[in-house]
Amino acid sequence: MTQLSEPIRRPYPEVHPETGRFFMNLALNLAEDAALNEEVPAGAVLFDPSTGQILAQERNQVLALNDPTAHAEILAIRAAAKAVGNYRLTGMAMAVTIEPCPMCLMAAIHARLGVVCYGAPEPKWGAAGSLIDLQSLSGLNHRLTVTGGILAEPCARLLKDFFRVRRIKKTDH
Ligand SMILES: [Zn+2]
Repeated sequence: MTQLSEPIRRPYPEVHPETGRFFMNLALNLAEDAALNEEVPAGAVLFDPSTGQILAQERNQVLALNDPTAHAEILAIRAAAKAVGNYRLTGMAMAVTIEPCPMCLMAAIHARLGVVCYGAPEPKWGAAGSLIDLQSLSGLNHRLTVTGGILAEPCARLLKDFFRVRRIKKTDH
């Protein structure tokens, strides 16, 4: 008799670099829109990596919604799940301008996304290795393929400029 064992889980393939850059550019536009609205510039695009279909595109809206959980990724996951009528988004991909925080990366795991690609690392909050490496926790029953550094320079610059302008505004009375 064959032994029942854990099925072998293969990691989801990374999205093609060109595909990653294409969706990251869209996410960057959303992040710019966030900055124009005084929100920390982060944008996220959720898409089907096999067809290229966009399921949701959102930007950070914590101020506008008075909601500390209204990060771009959370809003994109909510919108995409609603759009497809399923709380699981198995194998879908998300491009996000900044390394996701623990809340957002865990939401991506809950949603069963296959791939998360991000732009700039986020030393303070990043959960893909900067603050913590969430996926190194044992016992997680789903693993994402996470790729960083896609259009990292413009993603980081947008964030840096945003905080520099905010500091100037704060001191300029
Ligand atoms: Zn987040």
